[in-house]
Amino acid sequence: MESTHVLPGIPASPEEALQRLKDGNKRYREGKLEIADLTFQDWADRRKALEHQTPWAVIWGCMDSRVPPEIVFDCGLGELFVIRTAGQVSDRAALGSLEFAVSAVDKQGKPKYPIQVVMVLGHSVCGAASATIDSVDQPPKPDANMGSISALVEAIKPAYRWFKDDNAATPNAAQTGDARVTQVSMRNVEIQVETLKRNKILEAAGNRIAIVGAFHFLLDEKVAGDPAYNKSGEVMTDLPKYRIIAGHRPEDYVPKPK
Ligand SMILES: [Zn+2]
Repeated sequence: MESTHVLPGIPASPEEALQRLKDGNKRYREGKLEIADLTFQDWADRRKALEHQTPWAVIWGCMDSRVPPEIVFDCGLGELFVIRTAGQVSDRAALGSLEFAVSAVDKQGKPKYPIQVVMVLGHSVCGAASATIDSVDQPPKPDANMGSISALVEAIKPAYRWFKDDNAATPNAAQTGDARVTQVSMRNVEIQVETLKRNKILEAAGNRIAIVGAFHFLLDEKVAGDPAYNKSGEVMTDLPKYRIIAGHRPEDYVPKPK
């Protein structure tokens, strides 16, 4: 088969990288994958991609089986670093992976990987956010063996606290069900972005790298209170600014360094 596949190269700026991700997501929504679909590549092309990796974005996403970044953004081999945990929560190993991606240098002391964007990618109907809500509203018995799952729940709790603070004075339909899970998940992304903005290794990478929050709507979904958010398969990078709506800021919910 003749190859029609050409990797588009390394984006020249964070803006271009973000646009590349948005364009890839559009192809995903339209069912027209060009790059992630390896049937377009013959082995010569694929070998080229495998010889030397040039990942230009780090996507920190959820382990959910429906949100694989390479497919959702239609990216190819060697283009993305992907870190995935439930609820895209951070632990030392995951954070170390991110820090390595942005700080590794080559023999000339130049950045080893041309990272332009670090994206925290949340999604609707997230099981980890749902489990966190449940464990706050119906706490497990003290003798229940939660294993390491409690670490996930603890990491997402500030997002639920923020949601409750915002809705304490004005109860509405968003306080239950999938809409609540989505709103908690979005806040979780915002808190994670704020936390990464305080990361010293990322800070040392300076203006070279954009840190962005994004949210993937799996299906046709409405976010309660905002008719603009009715999306299907779309990854949005302009999250609602809850801080303006209710006066609480994501900064207030960033965990204190231990
Ligand atoms: Zn999830």
